[in-house]
Amino acid sequence: MLTKKLPSLPSFLLLVSRRASHLTRQQYDVIVVGGGHAGTEAAAAAARVGAETLLVTQKIQTIGALSCNPSLGGVGKGQLVKEVDALDGLCGRAGDWAGIHFTILNRRKGPAVWGPRAQLDRQRYREFIQSELLGTPRLTVLESSVEELLVTEPNPEKTGRHRVAGIRLANETHAISASSVVLTTGTFLSGSLFVGQTTSPGGRIGDAPSSAGLSHTLKERLGLRIGRLKTGTPPRIVKDSVDLSLAELHPPDGHPTPFSFLNTHTRCKPEEQLPCYLTYTTPGVERVVRESLHLNCHIQQDTKGPRYCPSIESRVLRFPGRKHQVWLEPEGVTSDLLYPQGLSMTMPPDKQLCLIREIPAMHRAEIHTPGYGVQYDFVCPTQLSPALQVKSTQGLFLAGQINGTTGYEEAAAQGLWAGVNAARWALSMPPVALSRTESYIGVLIDDLVSRGVTEPYRMFTSRAEFRTSLRPDNADLRLTLKGFEEVGCVSSLRYTEAIRVRDNLQDAMEALETLALSTTTWRKKLPNIHISENKNTSLTGMNLLQYSDVSFEMLASVFPEYLSAYSEFSQRLKIEAVYRPHCDLQKKEIERIQKEENMSLPQDIDYLSLPVSMSQEVRDILNRVRPSTLGAATRLQGITPAAIVHLLNYVRHIGQMERTQGKQTDQKEDSEEELCARNASLPQ
Ligand code: FAD
Repeated sequence: MLTKKLPSLPSFLLLVSRRASHLTRQQYDVIVVGGGHAGTEAAAAAARVGAETLLVTQKIQTIGALSCNPSLGGVGKGQLVKEVDALDGLCGRAGDWAGIHFTILNRRKGPAVWGPRAQLDRQRYREFIQSELLGTPRLTVLESSVEELLVTEPNPEKTGRHRVAGIRLANETHAISASSVVLTTGTFLSGSLFVGQTTSPGGRIGDAPSSAGLSHTLKERLGLRIGRLKTGTPPRIVKDSVDLSLAELHPPDGHPTPFSFLNTHTRCKPEEQLPCYLTYTTPGVERVVRESLHLNCHIQQDTKGPRYCPSIESRVLRFPGRKHQVWLEPEGVTSDLLYPQGLSMTMPPDKQLCLIREIPAMHRAEIHTPGYGVQYDFVCPTQLSPALQVKSTQGLFLAGQINGTTGYEEAAAQGLWAGVNAARWALSMPPVALSRTESYIGVLIDDLVSRGVTEPYRMFTSRAEFRTSLRPDNADLRLTLKGFEEVGCVSSLRYTEAIRVRDNLQDAMEALETLALSTTTWRKKLPNIHISENKNTSLTGMNLLQYSDVSFEMLASVFPEYLSAYSEFSQRLKIEAVYRPHCDLQKKEIERIQKEENMSLPQDIDYLSLPVSMSQEVRDILNRVRPSTLGAATRLQGITPAAIVHLLNYVRHIGQMERTQGKQTDQKEDSEEELCARNASLPQ
């Protein structure tokens, strides 16, 4: 239930420290640098684990700020939000509080790849995060800029590694010491802003970059490999200046689905939600982009930008002559602005105005704030352990955009896990890891630390090889119990609720399994359902639920004495029934791959025309490198285990494979063909 009351913002601000001299202590277990999406989750998680924690951030008012799109979740990203929530993080509940337009993306596909998403009210989101941090025991928030990271020199006789000692703030001489420091400086590390031909130092519009001292310590003293990436944001448009009658109306879902497992409903009532609108670019947009290219520094630079959230300049240059989607999204309940998703741009402001006016719905539009680009340093994440600790520096943890990712959800997920491990390090507890088989957070961290990044990394469901079991609906069962019993970051309230859900689901599934009846009896009970199984077969309630036109409610209406107690879980039971066989099959496939390490790959494979289930990014890498074996393909940077499954199936399917080891019997080939065929019908 959403019962939380927000304190009013002014009284809240009095309760946090704006100056270091107000701090009651100069020694903390954990210091978190940066109050963005990674930093807020890290600070709250460290405190939940039991560490005395200090969050230092440049401006208290920007804690929880949404630098770009006011939205949360989506395909792959929504799974991360659910997992952060299952581990008692903040962003899911903040999304339920601040959401003003809720949708489940990908609804036409299977529930494993549904993408819970919400358009947010920026101010409400910030207020919620700020009030949560205030209410977190053992957490102090300080408004300041960290000037320097303090580390000890490595002692060759001991670990041979640096060790974190604390931080020094800008304009302060004394240090604040800590056992662990979590850096979450986002786009602020050596950040530069770009609009047209103008460049200025900055981490985000209106915010100074992170100090040069911090970059110096990471590069020069710790010798970390640093790369450079870029991203951008669209101009914000004055709502009243847009003719929305010329755009397609996209209403939200009739019943908002909360992100948080603790919430039964969202703050925004169904009828209070705001719509989004869809429109398209015109040839005039492409013309303005081309004519202003020579005035656009950001786009001319080779630095890599986000492939999946590209600027309008990159989109029209890469796909000339195409109509590109532009979503017009509300920025908040009382905001006068619209966010034009798809129009991130860095040309001079006068050209930005010309460009947006080439779109019919915006032919008289006014720009409130021009779009801009940002370039920033990131730390190559292969230098981190799965606990997100820098391997060469004890007690130093990194999370968020500083690790080469893009997006609030990716940042929040890493932040939570880095915060947990920073606290455990400080409290002399062993590190904890999440595997690829149990969570998207595990997939994200494993991709980062084992493969690194060559461009801003974002989450997709295709990156997870076990995605039919890593579903948004079951994140609590996968993570909340572990979060309480092994990790220590989950409250007893949430744990008790997860136990209740687990026990009820188990009881309900047992009740469904014991309902074993002949097909003839089922046909009599459910005359409108076409039951295809052989006449003498016995089918359980779980088997019946696998039929697309059978709902739990139908079964409960036939057997109320067994099932009506579980109607609260009807959707979850339906999903469990549908996915159970696929999850078992998927596990077997991964085991099969591990055995096929030495399988040779034909050198004439046309990787670029591989099935579309494999991303363009993966196909490009395979085409460039042309690995000789499946094992070599698995070790390539950017190749996910999910892509390996597709590659293996493809090679088998076209019959081009050559083996370097082992022989397969005809019977085995038959059963693999069968597996391929069944795989093709897996729900996505
Ligand atoms: P941030 O949210 O950036 O937070 C960093 C925090 O660290 C800030 O609060 C800052 O004040 C603080 N800080 C920095 N240095 C110091 C210091 N020395 N001392 C104290 N505090 C410090 N994501 C997408 O998914 N799609 C997009 O299209 C997209 N476009 C973007 C465009 C722009 C212009 C920007 C700026 C970001 C964009 N993002 C986009 C990225 C998204 O905002 C980030 O991925 C996300 O906010 C990263 O979270 P974070 O916690 O790592 O960093």
